[in-house]
Amino acid sequence: MAAYQAPLTDMHFVLHEVQRAAELCAAMPGTADVTADLMDAVLESAAQLASEVLAPLNRSGDEEGCRFEAGRVHTPAGFREAYRAYTEGGWVGLCGDPAHGGQGMPKMLAVLVEEMMMGANSSFALYPVLTAGASLALVSHASESIKAFYLPRLYSGEWSATMCLTEAHAGTDLGLLKTRAEPDGQGSYRITGSKIFITGGEHDLSDNIIHLVLARLPDAPAGPRGISLFLVPRQLPDASGKPGVHNGVSCGAIEHKMGIKASATCVMHFDGATGYLIGEANKGLACMFTMMNYERLSIGLQGIGLAEHSLQVASAYARERLQGRAATGPVNPAGSADPILVHPDVRRMLLTVRADLEAGRALSVYVGAALDTVHFDPDPQRQARAARLVALLTPVAKAAFSDRGFEGCVNAQQALGGHGYVREWGLEQNVRDARIAQIYEGTNGVQALDLAGRKVVRDQEGLLETLWEDIESFLQAQATNAALKECFLELKAALAQTRQVSDWLRQAAAGNPDEIGAASVPYLRLLSQLLYCFMWCRMAVAATLALSRPGADKAFYEDKLTVARFFMTRQMPVRHALAAEIKSGCATVMAFPAERF
Ligand SMILES: Cc1cc2nc3c(=O)[nH]c(=O)nc-3n(C[C@H](O)[C@H](O)[C@H](O)COP(=O)(O)OP(=O)(O)OC[C@H]3O[C@@H](n4cnc5c(N)ncnc54)[C@H](O)[C@@H]3O)c2cc1C
Repeated sequence: MAAYQAPLTDMHFVLHEVQRAAELCAAMPGTADVTADLMDAVLESAAQLASEVLAPLNRSGDEEGCRFEAGRVHTPAGFREAYRAYTEGGWVGLCGDPAHGGQGMPKMLAVLVEEMMMGANSSFALYPVLTAGASLALVSHASESIKAFYLPRLYSGEWSATMCLTEAHAGTDLGLLKTRAEPDGQGSYRITGSKIFITGGEHDLSDNIIHLVLARLPDAPAGPRGISLFLVPRQLPDASGKPGVHNGVSCGAIEHKMGIKASATCVMHFDGATGYLIGEANKGLACMFTMMNYERLSIGLQGIGLAEHSLQVASAYARERLQGRAATGPVNPAGSADPILVHPDVRRMLLTVRADLEAGRALSVYVGAALDTVHFDPDPQRQARAARLVALLTPVAKAAFSDRGFEGCVNAQQALGGHGYVREWGLEQNVRDARIAQIYEGTNGVQALDLAGRKVVRDQEGLLETLWEDIESFLQAQATNAALKECFLELKAALAQTRQVSDWLRQAAAGNPDEIGAASVPYLRLLSQLLYCFMWCRMAVAATLALSRPGADKAFYEDKLTVARFFMTRQMPVRHALAAEIKSGCATVMAFPAERF
C-alpha cells in the first residue's frame, strides 16, 4: 500500500497562485508577518509529521482500535508518542489566540494542515481538531479568567477538549436535550445527565479532558432557546493548576463502529459534576455554533484528505496493474496486457476523484480566506461581507467535501477491483473512515436543510447575492481572456441557472414549506457544482498565467487545464439533472403514505 504523502505542490498552487495568500496576509495587521516562506515552512513540517508520524499508525490504529477497561480508554500503540510529537510541534494552537499561547496563523493555511492530518490518519486527527474547535469557542465566549487559565493548556495539548451535545433522544434536535445544570451557590453549577457519541470523551493522550457540555438551567425555557454551555473538566484543577480530584465525569462505554476505530466515541456520564457557564445563560447553542462551524469545515477536510490518499493509492495501482488491452491497440505489446490506465472507465474514475478533490481543496482555502477576513481585517464592511460568505459556504463545504470525499474513496477503491475490497491496499479502511464525515457534525441532510432553509429561503442578509457578486466580478475581470472562454461560458451559464433555481425555490417554499426539505440535498449539490466550477476557473486562470512564465513546470500546469476541461465537460452537465430534480417539487416525495413505508 502506498502510504499517504502530503500533496505539497498542489497545496502551494492553491494557496499562493490561486488564493494569493501572502498578499492577503500582508494586507491585514494580524497576519502581516505571515510571509509565503513562513507558510511554506509550516506546510513542509506538517507534511513531515503527517507522512512520517501519523500515516504509519493509520492501519495499526484501525486494527487495534481503542480499548475500554475499568472506565478508562486506551488508544492504540504509538498514539501517545504521536500525540506528544503533535503537541510539541505546537499544532493544536496553530490558529490559536497569540495572547494565550496560540500561533495566530491564518485559517487558509490551517485548512491545508488539517487536510494532511485527516488524510494521514483521521482517527488521530480528530482528538486535536476537537481541542482546537473548543478553544475557539472559549476565545469567543468565555470570561477572561477562563481564557487565561484554560487556553494555554489546550493550545499546548497538555489538556484536550470535547464537544458534548448529543443525547440518546436528542441528536439533530438538540432542543430535546435533558442534561441539567443547577447553580451550586458558589458561582458554578452541578451538571447531571448522559451524553452519547462523544469523540475523545475519554482517552490516555492528555493529562486532563475539558468537556464543553450543553445543559439546561432550572428555569430555562423549553426547546433550543433554553440551552446553556458549560465547561466541565474531567478533573478539577488544584491550587497549582494541575489536574486534581475527579469531577463526577465518567465514561460508561465506547462504541464499536464501522470506521475511525482509533477515535474513542464515548458514552459520558455527568453526575453532579462542577461546571462553569460559558457565555450567557440560554445562549449555549449560539456559543456552541462557534465550535461547530469550525468543526464542520474540519470534517469536510476529512473527506478531501481521505480522497487524496485514496487517489494516490489508486493512481499508483492503475499504472502497474496489467489487465486487458487498449481499445485502440496495445500500448504494452511486450507485456501480458496493458496497464488498466488505458481503459477510459478507469481514467474516468480517477479523474473524477481528482477534479472533485482539487476543487474542494481550492474551496477550503477560499472559505479559510473568508474566515481570516472576518477575524483579522479591520474594515467592518469587508468583515461583514466575508461573514456572509462563511455563513453560506460552511454547510456547503461540510457536506460537499464529505460527500464527494466518500464518493472519491469509493471510486478509487473501484479502480482496484477486488484488491480494493480486501484490507491489503488500505482503501476499504478509507471508505469506512470517510463515511462518518457525512453523518457527524450534523448529517449532510441537515446541512442541506440549513442551506436551503435558513441561508436561502429565509435569508434577509443577501448571502447568495454576496456569492453571485464574487463570481460576477471574477467573470468581469476575465472578460478579455479568450484562452479559457469555454470555462467562463460554463461558469456564466451555471450561475444563471443556479440563480434561477434559487428564485424558484424561494417562491415554491412560500406556497409549501415541504419544498425546502424536498429540494435541499440536490440544491446543495447544485450550488457546490457552481462553486467547484468557479474554483476550476480560478485554477485554470492561475495555471495559464504560470505557463507564460519561463521555467514553469509545464506538465503540472497543463494538467490543471486538462482537469479543468474534464470537469467542465464531464461533470458540469449534472447541473441540468439537479435543476430538474429540484423543480419537480415535493409532491411525489410526500405522496407515499407514511404507514406503508
Ligand atoms: C462516530 C461519531 C462521533 C460523534 N461525535 C460527536 C461528538 O463529539 N459530540 C457530539 O455531541 N455528538 C457526536 N456525534 C453525534 C452526531 O453528531 C449525531 O449522530 C448526528 O448529528 C445525527 O444525530 P442522530 O444520530 O441522533 O440522528 P437523528 O437526529 O435521529 O437523525 C436521523 C435521520 O433523520 C434526519 N433528520 C433528523 N432531523 C431532521 C430534520 N429536521 N429534517 C430533515 N432530516 C432530519 C437526519 O438527517 C438523519 O438522516 C457523533 C456521532 C458518531 C457516530
